[in-house]
Amino acid sequence: MNGAERANLLTARRNLFRLLASMSYKLFIPGPIAVSDKTYRAMTSWVMGHRSKDFVSLFQSVQPKLQELFYTKDPVFISTSSAWGVMEGSLRNVVKKKVLNCCSGAFSDKWFDVSKRCGIPAEALKYEWGTPINPEDIRARLATGEFDAITFIHNETSTGTMNPLPEIMAVLREFPDVISITDTVSSFSALKIDKDALGIDVMLTGSQKALAMPPGLSLISVSDRAMKRAETVEGRGYYFDFLEFQSNYEKGMTPSTPVIPLIYALQSKLEDIFEEGLEARYARHERLNNKVRDWVAKHDLELLPPPEFGSKTLSCVKNTRDIDLPGLNNALKEKYNCVIDGGYGKLKGKTFRISNMGDETDETMQVLIDALDDLVPQFIGKASA
Ligand SMILES: *Cc1c(COP(=O)(O)O)cnc(C)c1O
Repeated sequence: MNGAERANLLTARRNLFRLLASMSYKLFIPGPIAVSDKTYRAMTSWVMGHRSKDFVSLFQSVQPKLQELFYTKDPVFISTSSAWGVMEGSLRNVVKKKVLNCCSGAFSDKWFDVSKRCGIPAEALKYEWGTPINPEDIRARLATGEFDAITFIHNETSTGTMNPLPEIMAVLREFPDVISITDTVSSFSALKIDKDALGIDVMLTGSQKALAMPPGLSLISVSDRAMKRAETVEGRGYYFDFLEFQSNYEKGMTPSTPVIPLIYALQSKLEDIFEEGLEARYARHERLNNKVRDWVAKHDLELLPPPEFGSKTLSCVKNTRDIDLPGLNNALKEKYNCVIDGGYGKLKGKTFRISNMGDETDETMQVLIDALDDLVPQFIGKASA
């Protein structure tokens, strides 16, 4: 193929992507979320050998920005998996005695289940869904000396609850033998999470939530302490072994063949993020979240969690007005080409969730709010019991 033919093919591919993007409907669900045309187009770049110099250049080009976004000096490993891969992998890498799994929603409850499935000694610190984690409870459990690791989710997406991260980490710093594993899947890059200053050992996220990329990639940054622990743990396996990630990282590579198109997407997304500026990005998420909260109040509705623990990236709203959520979503799709979420797991029908994470703007959120203003009144009191 000559240069001109190659360029034509690339243009045809890009046009196809545009067409597909225009045929779809817009996602206001909290993951996967809407992906920009630019990000999709970045994925059509040519795939190279994953042991080539070109790959090393690509890999190394994203590292400084990733470390800046994680606020860390530690490496940021790139995993070809959804977030659950590294959530399970973290357990396998650092737990020797017992893990304390903080449980307050679908994802955090599941993490306890995953510990058990891996045969790892685990205890659940349980809360009602929508109740934030209380750092004092963590202190009381860790003071028993039974645990050498803890998992918790910063932003529990199923309930729209943001746990008090600085307060939790202040308690964890009292227990230097306990490795902290923090899921920031739906909060990463939407607000400042200063990994090193907070003392988070293992911080992980996925591509399809606040990063506004397609699913399939996860990122995980591991502290020295956690790496030293991993060296002493048996049965880490291969695919998510921190030591494999580390030795390949030093060469600018990943342990196995990675999903290269998503790394191109990540490179493009990082450009966008730093072009906007981190402070501006954080302020935008806060502003758009408040816009949704104002809409919630205006319609005599309220959030599931206490408002001061409400997520900044999505709103989980109690369906106290018996809105027919499937009906509403069908109408949203038909008339406005978008959808919201009708509640996760046992909260299905009892709550609904609206995402404001990723690339949303004042304009796109206003389009959704106008659509909801138009349609919601027709569906109030229509929920089937
Ligand atoms: C979506 C989500 C996950 C699971 O992510 P997958 O990419 O489906 O593995 C885990 N934790 C949180 C907080 C999430 O929102």
